[in-house]
Amino acid sequence: MRDIAHFVNGQALVGTSGRFGDVFNPNTGEVQARVQFATDAELDAAVQAAAKAQIGWAATNPQRRARVMFEFKRLIERDMNSLAEILSSEHGKVIADSKGDIQRGLEVIEFACGIPHILKGEYTEGAGPGIDIYSMRQPLGVVAGITPFNFPAMIPMWMFGIAIAVGNSFILKPSEKDPTVPVKLAELMMEAGAPEGVLNVIHGDKSAVDAILNHPDIKAVSFVGSSDIAHYVYQTGTANGKRVQAMGGAKNHGIVLPDADMDQVVKDISGAAFGSAGERCMALPVVVPVGKHTADDLRERMVAEIATLKVGVSTDADAHYGPVVSAAHRNKIADYIRLGQEEGAELVVDGRDFALQGYEKGFFIGPSLFDGVKVGMKTYQEEIFGPVLQIVRAETLEDAMALPSQHQYGNGVAIFTRNGRAAREFASRVNVGMVGINVPIPVPVAYHTFGGWKRSAFGDTNQHGVEGVKFYTKVKTVTARWPEGDVGDSSFVIPTMK
Ligand code: NAD
Repeated sequence: MRDIAHFVNGQALVGTSGRFGDVFNPNTGEVQARVQFATDAELDAAVQAAAKAQIGWAATNPQRRARVMFEFKRLIERDMNSLAEILSSEHGKVIADSKGDIQRGLEVIEFACGIPHILKGEYTEGAGPGIDIYSMRQPLGVVAGITPFNFPAMIPMWMFGIAIAVGNSFILKPSEKDPTVPVKLAELMMEAGAPEGVLNVIHGDKSAVDAILNHPDIKAVSFVGSSDIAHYVYQTGTANGKRVQAMGGAKNHGIVLPDADMDQVVKDISGAAFGSAGERCMALPVVVPVGKHTADDLRERMVAEIATLKVGVSTDADAHYGPVVSAAHRNKIADYIRLGQEEGAELVVDGRDFALQGYEKGFFIGPSLFDGVKVGMKTYQEEIFGPVLQIVRAETLEDAMALPSQHQYGNGVAIFTRNGRAAREFASRVNVGMVGINVPIPVPVAYHTFGGWKRSAFGDTNQHGVEGVKFYTKVKTVTARWPEGDVGDSSFVIPTMK
């Protein structure tokens, strides 16, 4: 059995806890490796290595740091195929989607290549007589990221790409379900020229997360995962005096107005609801058609579209999506489908009986469709995170807009319409962090910023873009006076700019 070790100070660190997590191949259901879980002492060793490396790294000029990022980008592109294969074999998403996962992370690295420009700071000449003021952004020191299973390449790069480019060193605690690609990324950062200790990977579960949250030398923690844990991380980390951003779960709605291009809508919603087996925080698991005619038409077309979907092993180039990440997760999704029926929703398509010949032990589940889903249902209120699409019918745009606006989650939302005025009004008023207009998965590009509202994010800075730079830096403002002639008398009054 292959053991996956930690990566500290530029090399593998073999764990001593005797605690491990199983890493499955979701296609076959077999355990393909086990990942070592860290002790507090192993995390501390990573922090010490990171703290030592950070001093020289912060003093390295920004252009040289950017060059490491350029080289890292080249190396990832060189290894794209093998990284995608590993990612797919541990997560279960198809190869093309695995490449997309890596590519979306690389786009943040491309943003980080421009860090010298972004770190230039601000300057005011002549703020007073002989007085100039300048402000600069300085790194925090050692920072940490805790990431979910569903984007094992993109989300670590969201975090360490920017954190390291601005001069921090980084401890990554990836998901224990698919930890190999995060370690490969750290190895590639070393190959790209990052000094040893600048990027370290520590594996584990709650105990490693708690060790991070309690370590006095970790200045900031970025978390992405489910909401209850995000909330816990936010509360514990901030109580310990750390800067914390913690992204949580989601239940994104797609509003369909009667004038929408229905051929396109059906394709868009199908991809957004069932792609990656629905295991995306920007998936679209709820569709809200406005008016009975729109709802009946959409339902009929969705049933036909679902019949064309191919569920297959993650290496099957024709498969639309592969298995979910674990047997436990597949069972949880099946339980939600049973609950939906018990709550009185109509199960139009039932994916629970799907089995793939030759892969009977794989974690597969077919696509499911519910109609007649109502606001009070638990299956509507909670995140299912599987290939399950729920139709919630609305009479008017106002009724439709109230649904995502009042939902506990507020990550993404989409509206499908040809009416620019309605779309503009919707985008302005809906109580959700990221909005798509005829765009089903409105994940902002790297130089904008990613973050939801309500229970989808705790803390007030988003991931990547300029917000990411703000999260991983602190501002220092210098007021300098070079007076001409004599210095005046002491003043006991606060200086003002009269
Ligand atoms: P998860 O919350 O189970 O795990 C996330 C991280 O927390 C992992 O590193 C895990 O090891 C750690 N962890 C697990 N249990 C813990 C505990 N009790 N205490 C402390 N840490 C713990 O999430 P997941 O299942 O890996 O990922 C799916 C979830 O992530 C979904 O809810 C999805 O919506 C969310 N997600 C959100 C975003 C976003 O940007 N808002 C992006 C991707 C995924």
